[in-house]
Amino acid sequence: MDYVNGPGRNHLFVPGPVNIPEQVLRAMNRNNEDYRSPAVPALTKVLLEDVKKIFKTTSGTPFLIPTTGTGAWESALTNTLSPGDRIVSFLIGQFSLLWIDQQKRLNFDVDVVESDWGQGADLEALASKIAADKSHTIKAICIVHNETATGVTNNLATVRKILDHYQHPALFLVDGVSSICALDFRMDEWGVDVALTGSQKALSLPTGLGIVCASPKALEAAKTAKSVRVFFDWSDYLKFYKMGTYWPYTPSIQLLYGLRAALDLLFEEGLENVIARHARLGKATRLAVEAWGLKNCTQKEEWFSDTVTAVVVPPYIDSVEIVKRAWKRYNLSLGLGLNKVAGKVFRIGHLGNLNELQLLGCLAGVEMVLKDVGYPVKFGSGVAAASTFLQNSTPLIPSRI
Ligand SMILES: *Cc1c(COP(=O)(O)O)cnc(C)c1O
Repeated sequence: MDYVNGPGRNHLFVPGPVNIPEQVLRAMNRNNEDYRSPAVPALTKVLLEDVKKIFKTTSGTPFLIPTTGTGAWESALTNTLSPGDRIVSFLIGQFSLLWIDQQKRLNFDVDVVESDWGQGADLEALASKIAADKSHTIKAICIVHNETATGVTNNLATVRKILDHYQHPALFLVDGVSSICALDFRMDEWGVDVALTGSQKALSLPTGLGIVCASPKALEAAKTAKSVRVFFDWSDYLKFYKMGTYWPYTPSIQLLYGLRAALDLLFEEGLENVIARHARLGKATRLAVEAWGLKNCTQKEEWFSDTVTAVVVPPYIDSVEIVKRAWKRYNLSLGLGLNKVAGKVFRIGHLGNLNELQLLGCLAGVEMVLKDVGYPVKFGSGVAAASTFLQNSTPLIPSRI
């Protein structure tokens, strides 16, 4: 009887895929159409312009690829690098681990900088590697901006500073899957060469669009990069961009209309307000965790993530039980602990199209589950800490007050 439907809404608090707003659902509820008609290129042209805003770039070239975050990774790597190229990559959690695994399988020479899970990328180690690399053997730095498994946000501005300080020409490739459209992200200012995200995270769309943005330097590198690529080859896209038809193969029509609606919602709220909203919901969640007497998996405040919180449970509790029970009894979906932190943490995703009462509902549910599994939580403690903070800070929808 595990898969019986429950009444009411599912409370979706995994850190992706996230809730899809009604406006987006409605915009996608449409028939297929001929993508070679003038309508789809016209729609695409404006989408490509608008999508640059979520990366904060004017000089970047975006690609809307029918894939997931994993495909976007592959697109970033194979278009800019050649087999055997040395790249520096940071291992700090499950998503960085998976990207590194992909990098190795694509035959790059991966120089892995590992930290304990819960720590940020070791940028001091990066600085020494860059300082020592006088002959520029390092071709790229690969970093996950927000490690979704541990709730760690890395400081990308520092990566740029290190590269600039040593005038090192390595490409700067960034996984922004759980950050772009939710956390402060500045492609041009930080000199990011390839930035990427997936539609089902902060953009609050269904899974299926990998959004990749390449700097002029990355496009230049693509001209000589020797990695085998076919489906993900940027040059096919660029050829069709030039012709004004935009698509080398069939786009997901419904996702394009969904993206239009999602961007409209983001721009209406204002990207800066969206980022501020995530900061508030992140802080409220962390206050609740503290009030419950539980620990954040993230080791230092400077790395706290405003899109996901990984909560460490006491050793006598299996966090898998928390996630199972939340779903079965309360129709609340929480994130599991992955790999090294399996059984030890559960995750609360607070990204995408979400407001404060939704979050408080989730926190109330977590309190009930904690009690169910034998943790001595004081009912209302986390909700009180979070709601006190939320009520005393700037409202989410200022224009409605
Ligand atoms: C979800 C996620 C991915 C993987 O994306 P898929 O769409 O599942 O392929 C990669 N990186 C990060 C940081 C993620 O959160």
